[in-house]
Amino acid sequence: MLEFNPLKSGCTGCAACYSVCPVRCISMCADEEGFLYPEVSDACIGCGRCEEVCPHGKPNPYGENGKKVLAAVSKDKNIWRRSASGGAFSEIVRHWADDETLIVGAVWDGFWVHHLGVMGFNAIAPLCKSKYLSSAIEDTFLEISRHLKAGRRAIFCGCPCQVDGLRRYIGKDNDSLLCIDLICHGQGSPYVFEECMKYVGEVLGENVKEYGFRAKRRNHEKDYMSKIVTGRRTLYVVNDPYVQLFLSQNALRPSCAENCRYRDVRRPGDLTIADFKGLAKVFPELTGTKRNYSTIVSNTPKGERILESLGDTMEVKECDVESVIRYNALFGRQAPGSEGRDVFFSDFRKDPREAIVTWTSHMLLRRYSLKQRIKDVVPSAVIRILYEIKEYFR
Ligand SMILES: Cc1cc2nc3c(=O)[nH]c(=O)nc-3n(C[C@H](O)[C@H](O)[C@H](O)COP(=O)(O)OP(=O)(O)OC[C@H]3O[C@@H](n4cnc5c(N)ncnc54)[C@H](O)[C@@H]3O)c2cc1C
Ligand code: SF4
Ligand code: SF4
Ligand code: SF4
Repeated sequence: MLEFNPLKSGCTGCAACYSVCPVRCISMCADEEGFLYPEVSDACIGCGRCEEVCPHGKPNPYGENGKKVLAAVSKDKNIWRRSASGGAFSEIVRHWADDETLIVGAVWDGFWVHHLGVMGFNAIAPLCKSKYLSSAIEDTFLEISRHLKAGRRAIFCGCPCQVDGLRRYIGKDNDSLLCIDLICHGQGSPYVFEECMKYVGEVLGENVKEYGFRAKRRNHEKDYMSKIVTGRRTLYVVNDPYVQLFLSQNALRPSCAENCRYRDVRRPGDLTIADFKGLAKVFPELTGTKRNYSTIVSNTPKGERILESLGDTMEVKECDVESVIRYNALFGRQAPGSEGRDVFFSDFRKDPREAIVTWTSHMLLRRYSLKQRIKDVVPSAVIRILYEIKEYFR
């Protein structure tokens, strides 16, 4: 049996080792923070393929040249509304996928997030919008490999560590595979998320039934507003406790934050997508624009061909890669991590609820929910009708 035990700070949970093992003797198991790591059983035959495929400690093989960059927003308002930023993911899929293309991305399953494959552009809605917690890859790399071997196309979208893991697992560049990576703050802990949902339910006096990040209301996005659905109400909350813990980096995986090796401009995806930061500074003529834009960066000739065709369905503005580096703090440079992370998790292990109360400003949620309660006096159906009328005449 091979001693395959990568350092925790180096393992991103990309599941390349799990996917490549010929005897399927690796399981991805959650640690006490809720992050998945490989565990090898006695059935290991010592072939060494897991170590070969693991990106940890290996040089970055991706190129840096010839990048083209767009700030872009979908012309279709429904696509923009269902997306975290400008709908780049949906529009890229629309341009490249046919009905038999397998499209793999992150979906909710209750309060758990995992990658799932769907077939064709019309089925991608559940994949849209960022879910800022760790997404389990499960058997999706194997599914992609089978699909490519059957002569069909596949698209994978995920954090750069996941895309790197997939590329290394597939082995050689494959024309039928399109990889999209994200500029990435990090993966948040599923256990912390679950406990935050319990706590939010306690504050609201009702269990949270459904949750979504990056809620968009009316025609603009308020940064990091979440949608919280309980049995009776739908609330829009700014900076809820989980978002605070995610943004402060206290609830991130050890391989994220200052340990992340994927903040390079040399990217594993054919395309990199992200929020477009500093939009009005790069394009002063867009000052006051209410809809937020995506950044789209091409990293390969395949990515560049797609990028050049997006003007049909998106409002696009070309810019240089330096503008993205200047305004997006996590592209092309490392960001400092959180000094409090280990202390937070130590508190969290002792008493999750108490740690959440101590490490977040929970009053923000209370104040906001009170305001929301007053608004709820007006039946939500009336608000919806007024909103639709306003949209119609816009
Ligand atoms: C964990 C995470 C951290 C991010 N950090 C930053 C950041 O610091 N700065 C920045 O500019 N942008 C960041 N992004 C990217 C940003 O949130 C948007 O995803 C991006 O702007 C593209 O939006 P869109 O409108 O094109 O696509 P959308 O339709 O919103 O979807 C984009 C894609 O994200 C994938 N995705 C969603 N959740 C996850 C997940 N948990 N793990 C892996 N893939 C997922 C989906 O599969 C989908 O394919 C992050 C995204 C994620 C998931
Ligand atoms: S050495 Fe081979 S058999 Fe053992 S865990 Fe790694 S891939 Fe699987
Ligand atoms: S291949 Fe990925 S999941 Fe496996 S040990 Fe390496 S980084 Fe971790
Ligand atoms: S911050 Fe780095 S290691 Fe963490 S999920 Fe993002 S790409 Fe992966």
